[in-house]
Amino acid sequence: MKEACGVFGVFAPGRGVAQLTFDGLYALQHRGQESAGMAVSDGEAITVVKDMGLVTTVFDERTIACLPGHIAIGHTRYSTTGSSEWRNAQPVYRSVGRVGFALGHNGNLTNTPALAELHGMLPGVVATDSDLVAELLALAHPAASADASPLDIPDPADRDGGPLGGGLLELALRQVLPLVQGAFSFVVLDGHHLMGIRDPNGFRPLCLGRLGPTDAPEGWVLASESPALDVIGASFVRELEPGELMVIDEKGPRSEQIFPAERLETHLCIFEFVYFARPDSRLYGREIHGARRRMGELLAEQRPVEADMVMGVPDSGVPAAEGYARASGIPYGQGLVKNRYIGRTFITPDQGARTALIRRKLNPLRDNIAGKRLVVVDDSIVRGTTTRALVEMLRDAGASEVHMRVSSPPFQWPCFYGIDTPTREELLAARMSREEIEEYLGTDSLEYLTLEHLVEAIDAPGAGFCNACLTGDYPAPVPVSFRQAAPA
Ligand code: AMP
Repeated sequence: MKEACGVFGVFAPGRGVAQLTFDGLYALQHRGQESAGMAVSDGEAITVVKDMGLVTTVFDERTIACLPGHIAIGHTRYSTTGSSEWRNAQPVYRSVGRVGFALGHNGNLTNTPALAELHGMLPGVVATDSDLVAELLALAHPAASADASPLDIPDPADRDGGPLGGGLLELALRQVLPLVQGAFSFVVLDGHHLMGIRDPNGFRPLCLGRLGPTDAPEGWVLASESPALDVIGASFVRELEPGELMVIDEKGPRSEQIFPAERLETHLCIFEFVYFARPDSRLYGREIHGARRRMGELLAEQRPVEADMVMGVPDSGVPAAEGYARASGIPYGQGLVKNRYIGRTFITPDQGARTALIRRKLNPLRDNIAGKRLVVVDDSIVRGTTTRALVEMLRDAGASEVHMRVSSPPFQWPCFYGIDTPTREELLAARMSREEIEEYLGTDSLEYLTLEHLVEAIDAPGAGFCNACLTGDYPAPVPVSFRQAAPA
């Protein structure tokens, strides 16, 4: 069960936090279209609304109006084959005696079965890795101890206890987090606090924003990507550090590094830069669009070709195509129109259905490409299904040559840290040589950006990346089931 998701959190007394969360999630919709949800706390009760579908399907004005409170977290979940179920929607909620908490997770844990077994849970009791963390937090929560009556109203001292003043939930987090391995950016709330945590490798992004002016903040926001701050008028403050636990309440944000130095090693997912994040997001202090444009420029240097027009595959290939055109001097043009009401087509179970979806999603501009030698830029080739159908479509529409340029290296290894990918057998570059790929795709030439150029384009000196999908070099343990299946 892999999920790449969008998470959001807000602490803002006096503001409609449900509306802010809706707006934030809407800006993070690209990170997950399977389900959406939010948990809102008014200090007394936590209300969770979640369902399958897009943010706008799950929420409308009436639902939002019924969610008063001053703290909220939200989640958009990415579609994965076979696990498209209501029970996997987030945030997950648990109550412990009279207190409750909710959690939203972006990433994928790699030791879920081992942890579940360790805690005596029967297979199937927890639905997902995120559910497991919620269960472990509930077990570790001091309010769950034998001498805490379920009717006890938590003592204010408990409420604000803990080194960061995050109360009992903070204590539970400090116990559970060191046990979990893999990728996690969590947003968590209880009746009084909003918390955010990034795993010690920083696989998935998480940033902090502020509502209101610096000298008189009106609230605080956590989000997977910075555009979720922009849309609600919050200012970007900073990215959370890998391993950082942040507690936010009326006293503002406080945070601490909670992992030992030997577990801290930054490996932000390089695919966030290639494909996953929005172009207007900022990671490592850089706007993603600029990095993608430079990827295209370096690609042009790496493999020039004589052609009449450079075009990008909408939407993700467009910034790199702009860069390729700029560096090569070949005019940039549009060759495809995308139906903007269609989401991402990648995770559709069978090949036939995917090809049909691509035709529904992209249509060629015949007059603009007929007779032309095209350089076609896309961000990545995973299974090759889309690309193959696309090349055929462009040729049918009259392109005289199709030169494929990919702004990332060959995708050869499955991701275990939060991006849903097919098995190794289904990854085009894992099962075919370069020549075979060219022939399969039907291109006149094909070039992938090298890893060195990709890192150069991102231009974040000293920054650490996870590039396991490109190199097979997994920075955190991978699930046992994969290790057994993988060739030695
Ligand atoms: P394909 O040729 O079938 O491998 O599809 C390649 C297309 O899928 C490219 O246009 C990518 O932008 C897109 N893509 C790459 N990774 C993902 C992902 N994790 N989820 C959805 N789409 C993706």
